[in-house]
Amino acid sequence: MNPLRDAKRLIVKIGSSLLVDDATGQMRRGWLESLAADIAACTARGQEVIVVSSGAVAVGRRKLGLVPPLKLEEKQAAAATGQIRLAHAWQDALAHHAITVAQVLLTLDDSENRRRYLNARSTLETLLRLGAVPVINENDTVATAEIRVGDNDRLAARVAQMVSADALVLFSDIDGLYTADPRKDSDARFIPEVRELTPEIEAMAGDPGSAYGSGGMVTKLVAARICLSAGCRMAITRGEPMHPLKTIEDGGRCTWFLPSSEPRTARKQWIFGSMKPAGTLVLDAGAARALAQGRSLLPAGITEVNGEFERGDCVLVKDTEAKVLGRGLVAYSATDARAIMGRKSGEIEAILGFRGRDELIHRDDLVMEG
Ligand code: GLU
Repeated sequence: MNPLRDAKRLIVKIGSSLLVDDATGQMRRGWLESLAADIAACTARGQEVIVVSSGAVAVGRRKLGLVPPLKLEEKQAAAATGQIRLAHAWQDALAHHAITVAQVLLTLDDSENRRRYLNARSTLETLLRLGAVPVINENDTVATAEIRVGDNDRLAARVAQMVSADALVLFSDIDGLYTADPRKDSDARFIPEVRELTPEIEAMAGDPGSAYGSGGMVTKLVAARICLSAGCRMAITRGEPMHPLKTIEDGGRCTWFLPSSEPRTARKQWIFGSMKPAGTLVLDAGAARALAQGRSLLPAGITEVNGEFERGDCVLVKDTEAKVLGRGLVAYSATDARAIMGRKSGEIEAILGFRGRDELIHRDDLVMEG
């Protein structure tokens, strides 16, 4: 098993300290280029790659002459100027491999609010389909303290969950999880593989304050919890060496967190288990057949819309005999769904005044009964 090579969809998270030289505030271009070459090797063999990159504050702060500790608004100002440079550096590095980069700035809401979540997810899916590499960071300039994700470990895990990624690699300044902080405790043992986050494993991260690894092991375990529930394999490894992705692919040391299910199964369990249906769509026989064949649900096949729901809510799907066929996340509100039911997807814009999605429920958002 090589979780990195096997991943169809791979997320790579890079912390500020790897990308930005602490002493000078300059970006470590040579290292970035070696990582870009690794990413290009992945895309060349058909893998989809998303980058979650920190560094906006670290790069921007010096340009504005700011000295730590920074106040929240100073961090935001630093991020505003640093993010441009960060995106440029990624663009340059990947352009050498003829890869197009797309900047995506997310807030907590985009990953946790279901309506926003569908938008962010379809944008990312579209970029990947078109062969671009999305470079994601938190939208630091508008996110205030209470609504910040705060750390990109967790943001990266949320992204992994959102796009059903197969693997996430967190590059850190430590090569994995140890039974205790190896810098302080010479008895600390390395843990190569974790299948379940037991209290014993959680305890290994130590207190948030004294956590080892610059981003802290605690936030990495929070990310691991999200990944395990999303069916995404996650690695913690040292990012410092040149060609850091190739290094772990070739067997370099890292801790793998290995979930028991696949991303698609996990996503379906999530839709099934955690959401109460807010309404019902009744389908004609043709749409019921299309669904049974694994296709998406189009407005044309709907004969009735019951209940009040918003875009992103979970709804039941029934046939004309009221038999439940499945459930899924709906891409239109109940009002809009009523307006477009029975109509062709091509007519949606003329009816609603905006061009929404062709599908009422995308097949990835649909779980069939039984
Ligand atoms: N979004 C922040 C930045 O780009 C970093 C957050 C983190 O490193 O976890 O500077």
